[in-house]
Amino acid sequence: MYRVAVIKGDGIGPEVVDSAIRVVNSVTDRIRFYEFEGGFEVFKRIGSPISEDDLKEIRKMDAILFGATTTPFNVPGYRSLIVTLRKELDLYANLRIIPDLSNGKEIVIVRENTEGLYARDGIGFSDRAIDFRIITLEGARRIAKFAINLAKERNSFITFVHKANVLKGDRFFREIVLEIAEREGVEVREAIIDSFMIKLVKNPWDHGVILTENMFGDIISDLATIHAGSIGIVPSGNYGDEIALFEPIHGSAPDIAGKGIANPIGAILSAAMMLDYLGLNGKVVWEATRRYVRYGNLTPDMGGTATTSEVTKGIISEIYSFD
Ligand code: ATP
Ligand code: MG
Repeated sequence: MYRVAVIKGDGIGPEVVDSAIRVVNSVTDRIRFYEFEGGFEVFKRIGSPISEDDLKEIRKMDAILFGATTTPFNVPGYRSLIVTLRKELDLYANLRIIPDLSNGKEIVIVRENTEGLYARDGIGFSDRAIDFRIITLEGARRIAKFAINLAKERNSFITFVHKANVLKGDRFFREIVLEIAEREGVEVREAIIDSFMIKLVKNPWDHGVILTENMFGDIISDLATIHAGSIGIVPSGNYGDEIALFEPIHGSAPDIAGKGIANPIGAILSAAMMLDYLGLNGKVVWEATRRYVRYGNLTPDMGGTATTSEVTKGIISEIYSFD
């Protein structure tokens, strides 16, 4: 039996996570879900977005399924739940898959999530401010290994995106990536971040597994999202050495919360990534979703008139139609 922590969160979070759980339960009976509370409401009560006791329990789980939480603007001392979990659980690899569900193509982005420009606070003086961009041997190695293993699994190659012609950190990172890739027999193509952004707009689908550091990954992964039919279909995983957290990339979408029309596909595909991580059958969920999208009524963000529940049921009946 696998143990999965569930944090549904705010807005449409609970609606889409319930869909994802229904889909998982239609694929396997080897997962038990444990629900935890977290986010801004918890912060208002206890001054932290999640309690110490809950965090301790969550550490013992095999994976986490996450919905979405609101991050209020400008609340002193508030660190969002997702940022807290990434830090506490050392979830260093952020994997975002942007699918074109009509033809099976994907943009696959691996972003380093613990180093680079965001790892440390900068320092400000009266006449200047300095930020630090940190790339360590250990940090570069673990993310390179993660991406290279993924490329292997997918029979694909790496596109390593950097600015090594200018930045020392990227030259350091590049050496490590090239060395591990050679040892593992994985092809590495290289791209400079600025010109790569143009490629990503014009020809997004043929870059294998895109690997990059934290800030470049932040920008690339948001830009790439424009190629998904809707923000509501994009899944992601945050992986550490002990545990991984899976979440759709969309936010809590307060404008449509409670209406029953949220697109559940991002959460469902996040659950598919979780199944793959646990060694269970995520592929069947991807395939069922692609099939459903081909003929099924979709939610309004994709031009349809379906409810969250109708799309979920449609995908589940596709799953039952496999044997
Ligand atoms: P938050 O503050 O939680 O990040 P947000 O409104 O800034 O929320 P999103 O929740 O990502 O950001 O929403 C951006 C837009 O996309 C909104 O109009 C929202 O309704 C829409 N949207 C996001 N997720 C979905 C979804 N799963 N299904 C349908 N529409 C969605
Ligand atoms: Mg947002």
